[in-house]
Amino acid sequence: MALTEYKRKRKFDRTPEPTGEKDVGKKRPKLKTGKNLRYVVQKHKASRLHYDFRLEQGGVLKSWAVPKGPSLDPEEKRLAMMTEDHPLDYLNFEGTIPKGNYGAGEVIVWDHGLYHSADVVDDPEESREKLKEGLRKGRLDFILFGKKLKGRFALIKMKRKEDVRGKSWLLMKQDDEYASTRDIAEDASSVISGRELL
Ligand code: MN
Repeated sequence: MALTEYKRKRKFDRTPEPTGEKDVGKKRPKLKTGKNLRYVVQKHKASRLHYDFRLEQGGVLKSWAVPKGPSLDPEEKRLAMMTEDHPLDYLNFEGTIPKGNYGAGEVIVWDHGLYHSADVVDDPEESREKLKEGLRKGRLDFILFGKKLKGRFALIKMKRKEDVRGKSWLLMKQDDEYASTRDIAEDASSVISGRELL
């Protein structure tokens, strides 16, 4: 999958974000994958504060901007607008995108971890296939193993009628032992540096 849109939106001599090239000597993502896929949720204080939910798939990070952020409450559906694919190096990105650049503002890694398809217990290859198919069909069911987010979640694409641009999805917790009405957004610090956005 191409990172054309990602690259087109950014000037890499003016932003510290990853270029999406295989930069020799640059810091690689820290999480060890084994055979599982990685995910990251970044909290991003751009013109509007939002969370960026990114799932590794096919060598890139499929990405959604979630204005209210994820919830642990299965009753809460959170709007998730699909955005351009990001490079895998973005798993680690935390810092300030300077003024005048796309997405200018501070970014922290609010949560990260591994995930797999909720329909597959023990077969990473089949899990990848299921997730690929889910993305195509507009429904992803997956299990997160993060620091803050755990258990079953779903991302469901809205019907065309209700969503002319075809980019709106809903992110929701599915009921399991990790479901809770506790406000997870109160847990505001970065899972890699402990920083908070002010
Ligand atoms: Mn963002």
